[in-house]
Amino acid sequence: MYKCKTQIHMVKSMLEIITSMLEMLSSMSKILVPTLWLCFVAYAAWYYTSAKKYAPLTREEVRILWKLHKQDVGCEAKKWQEIRRKDKMVGFECECGYKHVQKRPIAASMPVSHVGQVSPVFYKMHTTYESE
Ligand SMILES: [Zn+2]
Repeated sequence: MYKCKTQIHMVKSMLEIITSMLEMLSSMSKILVPTLWLCFVAYAAWYYTSAKKYAPLTREEVRILWKLHKQDVGCEAKKWQEIRRKDKMVGFECECGYKHVQKRPIAASMPVSHVGQVSPVFYKMHTTYESE
């Protein structure tokens, strides 16, 4: 009888442990899932903004930059590899291990090429204003 009681007691306490563990797990997942989502969103935002900071280069520009690097440090390398971000060439890696990634200058956030895209909109706005 006594033994049987203790066994029931043991099973009861084991069940309590399991339920408390399950409760802990569910409360953890309640915290974990939003945290994971936050991390993912933060990472995605970081990836997007960091990718935007890179300025795409043409093959010719990279060649010129590489030649400048070779002149600068007296590098004797014969080869270079392109560094790509979102299928755009943004820099190069020299055979000597030197890496150059073209980033947009912070001060001039609006490249000259964008001015040409803005001005027609401005003229359109101007003409609509005149016709009124
Ligand atoms: Zn080099």
